[in-house]
Order: sequence, then structure tokens, then C-alpha cells
Amino acid sequence: MTRQLRRAAMLLCPSVLLYLAAGMCAAAEPAAEVAPGKTRNVVLIVSDGLRWQEVFTGAEEDLLNDSAGGSWLSDAELRKRYWRATPSERREALFPFLWGTVAKRGQIFGNQALGSIARVSNGKAFSYPGYNEMSTGSPNDAIDSNEFGPNPTPSVFEWLNQFDEFHGRVAIYGTWNVFENIFNQRRSGLVVQAGWKPPPKVGPPTPRDLLLRRLYATTTPLDEEDVDNSFLQVALLDYVKSAKPRVLFVGYGETDNWAHQGRYDLVLDSAHRTDGFIKELWETMQTLPQYRGTTTFIITTDHGRGSGLTDWKEHGVEQKGSENIWVAVMGPDTPALGERRDGPVLVQAQIAATLAALVGRDYHQAVARAALPIAQILH
Ligand SMILES: [Zn+2]
Repeated sequence: MTRQLRRAAMLLCPSVLLYLAAGMCAAAEPAAEVAPGKTRNVVLIVSDGLRWQEVFTGAEEDLLNDSAGGSWLSDAELRKRYWRATPSERREALFPFLWGTVAKRGQIFGNQALGSIARVSNGKAFSYPGYNEMSTGSPNDAIDSNEFGPNPTPSVFEWLNQFDEFHGRVAIYGTWNVFENIFNQRRSGLVVQAGWKPPPKVGPPTPRDLLLRRLYATTTPLDEEDVDNSFLQVALLDYVKSAKPRVLFVGYGETDNWAHQGRYDLVLDSAHRTDGFIKELWETMQTLPQYRGTTTFIITTDHGRGSGLTDWKEHGVEQKGSENIWVAVMGPDTPALGERRDGPVLVQAQIAATLAALVGRDYHQAVARAALPIAQILH
């Protein structure tokens, strides 16, 4: 049942007490359903430029080599890690948490082979337009470069942060320093931890803090704008345990960078590790009373990429298929329908209102340009 229907059922009853007591109303809606959903915390997690092809079918055989895949690992080692006889075994080897837990307890969209289509609607299929679309709820044609600068459109994170119940408990943790612009840190006032800037520390630094700072300062960056995922993960887990955010964005970047470098072996390794980081975040949160049983994860990507022996490295209008993405959701309000097939086309812009709906807020009603939530993942 949708929240709107629940609200309508509530309105038919003169009060919550009567609603619970009156047989007529209780018959229409069990008392247990009165609450507006069980989700109290929501996390949007993105692995940059990670293709739906790898998510649904695992490693691609034609790229498990040096000639097309640019791999430094031997073919034998690469196959040992990621090659299996069937697509479902391959995807489970690559993403054990996504397929062993998320897809079993939640839902995953975007397997084009099953007729489930998820795509960007920004017409560009690169990063800033994608993060803008998913976080503001609509594409912005004016954003034509990752160097666009501060985002003029407030995101759903900024919108939620204005409510008392969320204020100061909305945070952006991402490897890419451009998130400071995408979420317009200066205007939004959100907590933003991004790029190679080490995480702030209140109080005297511990030896562990000093070591982390040293690694931030002395590691040679593959990309000066984008810190390695492993660095972000340390800062992220510390922040979650200490600040206990209610609404959180987590952006992992390596999967895009290694593809641009033409290193398919490292695309697979970083995809596999990202799956492990998401598992670690989920399990850490489940140990904390604030999050246990009341937290929903939305896991997705900002864009797809091309296909074939060369175009897997790049993405955009030139690389056919870059508009295709995937979206997975797991949490207490999402029916465990697993891998979805057919159904309406899901667009990236729906993610913003979905995130708000999970914590009981109607973003589409407040911001008319925002796309509707993904109804299938809400009770
Ligand atoms: Zn890219």
C-alpha cells in the first residue's frame, strides 16, 4: 500500500486512537500499517560509471586479457577471480553482497535482458549531469561539463536538511571533489567530505588520525580530483559512528577512473571492493541502534558506458548505451521482489523523490519539476 493510500485511510478515521480502535477502519488497514513506513535513515550510494552489464552478468570474457582489457594480471589469475560458467555465478563472484543480500532482500532494476530498463534522462551520460539528475529530481540542460561550477538547483539533500528532524544530519561523503559544487556546499551548508582533503578531526589527533592524514598527504593520486575509495571508507565509517546522519550520500569513484585508464582488471577489482565497502557500511550501521532495521540503501550509478572491445572505456553521447543504468534498493519498506523484469522504464530523476518518500517526505509535491518516486520499492 502506498503512503498516500495510508494517509487517505487515516483521514477517513477521526483520530489515530479511533483508527486503531474502530473495527471498520482497522479492517481497512491493519494497525501495524499506521506508521508512515519503517525507514528512518536513508543512504544513496553511487559507484561511478559502473555498467549494468557487469552488475547483471559479471565479468565480460572478451575483456579478460591484455589486448582489449588492458589487464596487467595474467589471464589465468583474472579468470580465477572473476570468470564463472554462468552469468549468475559471475555476478555473484563479482558482487557477493549485491547479489547475496541486496537482491535477495530488496529489488534491483536495469537488467535489459529481462526487459527492465533504467536510464538517465539528461541526454549526456557523464558525471555532473547524472549526479544532478538523481539528487535534484530533474535534468538540467545547462550542465554541459563537469567544470560547470556550483549547482544552481538545490538537491533533495539540501531540501531535507531544512526540516528540524534532519537538520545537521544530512551529509555528503564522496571521493570526488566536484561534489562540493554538485551539492553546492557553500549555499546548502551540508556536511561535505570530498576529494583529497583529509577528514576534519575535533580534539587532539590520535596516532591513527595522524597515519590517515599522512596517507592522504603522501599517496600519489591517479586523479587529483578523486581520492581512492579506501581512504573515503575510513572517514565515512568514523563519521557514521560519531555523527549518526539520517540522510547520507556516498560516492565511490574508482570504477569510472580505471575504465578510462583502460584497465579492465582494476575495474573488476574496484567494483568487487566497492561491493565490500557497501557491505561493510550496511553491517556497521546494523550494529548501531539508530540504524538497525530502520535504514534503506539505494545503490546506483551516475551513467553507463559504451560496449564492445573499445567503447567500454568511455561514456557519453558518442558511446551508444551510456544512458543505461541500474538501481538497487534494500530496506524495511521495500518488498523483497529481487531482480525485476519488464515494468515501466525507470529514470534516474526518480531517485530524489524516492529517497525523500522513504523518510516520509513528498519531494515531488514540494518541487513540481522533480520526477515521481519509484513506486515499486515503497510498500
Ligand atoms: Zn568518466
